[in-house]
Amino acid sequence: MESSLEPVDIARQAIKRLASRKLPPTPQNFRRAYLEAEGSASVQINRPEAIRALLAQWEGYQAGLTQANKREMLDRVLINFANDADELLEKLAGLARSWSELANGTTVVDNAAEIDVQAVQPVPATPVGAASSQAAAVKSGGGSAAVRLIAGYLKELSAGCRNQWPDLADRVDSLVRGLTAKVADLEEKDIEAMAHIWREIMVRAEDEHELVLSLKGLLGLLFSNVGELVSEDAWLSGQLATMQAALSDRLNPHALFQAEEGLKELVQQQKQLKGSMNEAKEKLKRLVSSFIDRIGEISESTGQYNVRIKDYSQRIAKAEDIAELSDVMDGLSTDMVHMEGQMVATHQELLAARTHAEEAEARIHSLEKELEEVSGLVREDQLTGALNRRGMDESLIKEMARADRMNAPFSVALLDIDHFKRLNDALGHQAGDQALVHLTRVVRQLLRPTDSLARYGGEEFLALLPNSDLADAEKVMQRVQRELTKQYFLHNNQRVLITFSAGVAQLQSSEAQDDLLKRADEAMYKAKAAGRNRVERG
Ligand code: GH3
Ligand code: MG
Ligand code: MG
Repeated sequence: MESSLEPVDIARQAIKRLASRKLPPTPQNFRRAYLEAEGSASVQINRPEAIRALLAQWEGYQAGLTQANKREMLDRVLINFANDADELLEKLAGLARSWSELANGTTVVDNAAEIDVQAVQPVPATPVGAASSQAAAVKSGGGSAAVRLIAGYLKELSAGCRNQWPDLADRVDSLVRGLTAKVADLEEKDIEAMAHIWREIMVRAEDEHELVLSLKGLLGLLFSNVGELVSEDAWLSGQLATMQAALSDRLNPHALFQAEEGLKELVQQQKQLKGSMNEAKEKLKRLVSSFIDRIGEISESTGQYNVRIKDYSQRIAKAEDIAELSDVMDGLSTDMVHMEGQMVATHQELLAARTHAEEAEARIHSLEKELEEVSGLVREDQLTGALNRRGMDESLIKEMARADRMNAPFSVALLDIDHFKRLNDALGHQAGDQALVHLTRVVRQLLRPTDSLARYGGEEFLALLPNSDLADAEKVMQRVQRELTKQYFLHNNQRVLITFSAGVAQLQSSEAQDDLLKRADEAMYKAKAAGRNRVERG
């Protein structure tokens, strides 16, 4: 029959069907809906007629069908196609047709009816104990027409269960073959065989129902657990809740489709999440490993936890999931509690050791300083800044060698403060020190840069005068004496005159240092003896 609708109208109806069934508009779904819409348009079901036919069959008799069978078939159609009025009507019409065929004794099943029968495949409810009475009923129907009717119905049954239970379909086929070969009525053994098959179908259907329930339970369990694992992700939790709700209702194609789509997205998300978690896990492993390594180093001295900690390290490296890691961490933290006491003690020991080390370091530093001073590494006198004895010796050696090498004159002047004891006594020791500093400053002012001044002893100084002969040395000392009469030592704003006696000596060829100094010393004493505040040649 030609469709009276334009393609665009059929397409519109197809979209309406998708919307009413809440199916996503995938090409496959659309194609199916379009074909259905096209089919409906061409078949053009007469609604009142379809319902009237159904009512007639509902009240009528169909071979092999009880009223309970019919109610079950009707229920299934009403449930499965409740969302689409057109489709529902179509299926109800198909149901009426299939019943009427049983009532008429025909077994011809067209394509549309086959779809209906598959969708509403009856599960015969005949109890085993009722087999004999049913056989009697069939016998009373009588003759080969009844056998043909039953054989046709059995063929239909075989086709319906072939996919799901092929072994059972084979048994039904063999029964059908036996029945078709008959010319007489059904025999007792045929009835028995049919009863066995029906009982088998009942058991399997029951099993299948149990299976679906278990599957639902398992899925629920799976989703709840996955939900806990990803409970922080709001999107995933929402998806899971939707799926759980869909599965907790009565199963129907739409809910299953939604659950499947949700599961696909969930799997996708899980893949990504797993990637991130693996990364995080690896990071955690590295962190924990390095932490354990450090603890291992610290506890090396205690020794007793080393073996266990190595074991933890290996377990962490092999850990496949967070739960395993968590177990290892539990064990580790228990050990850590025990170790804590030891750690605290170790820490205190470390602190004490550090304090000791710091003290030792300070002590070493001060000892080094003392040693430096004692060993004369320092070349300067602390009070006056003039060379100390060590500095003086080094300079003397250097200058004497130089003078010898250059064949240049070299002289020394030894000066000793006059009556310094009195100054100390009159003004105090500190004033005496300041007087020493004052003298050093004045002498240095008049010396040349190449000259140097050394503190020889208490209040005695030695001036080293390169490129100076005896007269030069005498002159420079006399200049210093004059200068001291200009630059008084000031003590409490009191002018204090400092004088000294000096002996000068010029280095003679191949003369030893001690001899040179001895001559200068003798000259100095000569100056003392001569009345002080003067310079004598040695
Ligand atoms: P003179 O040399 O003129 O004969 O008399 P004097 O008083 O200087 O005699 P002497 O050389 O015997 O005494 C030196 C004094 O110098 C003794 C000591 O107390 C003092 N003296 C030595 N070294 C220092 C010092 O570093 N600081 C102070 N304040 N006094 C010192
Ligand atoms: Mg002296
Ligand atoms: Mg003196």
